Amino acid sequence: MALAEYGKLFIGGQWVAPLDGEIVETIDPSTGKPWARVAFGGIKDMDRAVAAAREAFEGPWRRMPGYERAVLLRRFADLYEQRAAEMAVLESRDTGRPIRETRPDLGAHHRWYHWFASLADKLDGRTIPMEPAVHAYTERRPVGVVGAITPWNAPMLTTAWKVGPALAAGCTVVLKPAEHTPVTAYELAAIAEAAGLPPGVLNVVPGYGHTVGAHLVAHPGVDKIGFTGEGRTAQDILRAGAATLKRFSFELGGKSPHIIFEDADIEQALNAATSSAWVVCGQSCALGSRVLVQRSIYDRVVEEFRRRAARVRVGMPLDETTHMGPQAHGEQLAKTLSYVAIGQAEGAELVTGGKRIETGEFGAGFFVQPTVFAGVDNRMRIAREEIFGPVAALIPFEDEDEAVAIANDTRYGLTAGLWSRDSARAHRVAARIDAGMVWVNTYRYIRWSTPYGGMKASGWGRENGVEALDSYLDTRTTIVSTSGQFPDIYAQ
Ligand code: NAD
Repeated sequence: MALAEYGKLFIGGQWVAPLDGEIVETIDPSTGKPWARVAFGGIKDMDRAVAAAREAFEGPWRRMPGYERAVLLRRFADLYEQRAAEMAVLESRDTGRPIRETRPDLGAHHRWYHWFASLADKLDGRTIPMEPAVHAYTERRPVGVVGAITPWNAPMLTTAWKVGPALAAGCTVVLKPAEHTPVTAYELAAIAEAAGLPPGVLNVVPGYGHTVGAHLVAHPGVDKIGFTGEGRTAQDILRAGAATLKRFSFELGGKSPHIIFEDADIEQALNAATSSAWVVCGQSCALGSRVLVQRSIYDRVVEEFRRRAARVRVGMPLDETTHMGPQAHGEQLAKTLSYVAIGQAEGAELVTGGKRIETGEFGAGFFVQPTVFAGVDNRMRIAREEIFGPVAALIPFEDEDEAVAIANDTRYGLTAGLWSRDSARAHRVAARIDAGMVWVNTYRYIRWSTPYGGMKASGWGRENGVEALDSYLDTRTTIVSTSGQFPDIYAQ
């Protein structure tokens, strides 16, 4: 089959061939074979994109009234909705996520853009009461040109979380998607073009992180980096961005505790805990990868995980019946398998799974079985390090205090979940967990209007919610003396 062609970058409202980039092939992780040819930008391309974003920022975009930016963003959202089904197929091919995940996922992204559009004309400041002869007020101004750097696990969702608030705030954007999954970003550029966003407001330059990504970060023409990805990359970004003292927001990894108390509705808790262990093939920062289970129900929960793992239909991403596709690329598959070996060497009990699936049509793809470890101690590496594969680590606990202690004994603090029918306990425990998002009797409920982001090593700043705008806006305070009088301190 002919490869899909995405041979141009989108810079300054034009589709342009790379100046010093290259054309590369992107791999379908279910076959291990190329499925599209895509343009990657080089350093000169990134320079062009930053210049275009700067011109658009200084020109039409920051001066446009918020209600007019909102009209354009709504048009963008409507076009996104119309293209969502098609984009879901592309995202499934690029990431390997099954179509039954990507269809509802991409089918909801327009709501993010609508939500941010609705905020574009509400960026009001405050008046601050002072002495009678002083009028003090604040205004919120866009920070400028934003470099948006996204990961490969959920490319379009993590993009919406940056592009939506940035454009609503009046910033312009250079988007650099992950090298493994660039395809939907070109489609996003086409939507921006069709929606009539002024040239340069959104630029799309895929490419390698360590070259064009790093260049974007260090670029003096960029005012802010919005990043989702690995903590180690965030540290590199901080170092590279230090010289220009730009602003940063980081959405980094997680090792989220998902706590099941003995008084929970166990069926519902199991539905959530098994889904949040294996959905996105385990490649989501929010997954409940540490399942903390009260000792009295531990054996039952382990047995249910084993039973339910056997029901997971691993298959081709575009097959409507597939529950779980391949890992998104070969390095991630190798990483997941290495952690299975680490867990076994550490003495955890491999209850089920843990093997690459290589039979028949799975042969060349990056498939792995849904995996469950029992008897996990929170000191083990499989409980401490982010695996990013479909590997659940089941950790027993005795009581509330121990559950909280284990939950918080991690460098991460992104999300957490807990299941209990006792509402007092639910609130009590939720309040003690160090995580940016805590779900009670549900899991992975994420919406445009609910702030999302990490404590501790899981990140800086919040995406979604009205809080998302904060990291794309600067506050300017103006103080006016209505008397116009200023004392001469040297008069006597
Ligand atoms: P990654 O850090 O390897 O790459 C992320 C992006 O950074 C890619 O676009 C990559 O090209 C770019 N990049 C790499 N090196 C760079 C550099 N030196 N300078 C500038 N850009 C650079 O992460 P990944 O493997 O793509 O994504 C997986 C990670 O993302 C996991 O840790 C996961 O938990 C995290 N994640 C977090 C969230 C969240 O919301 N908190 C969501 C999704 C993924």
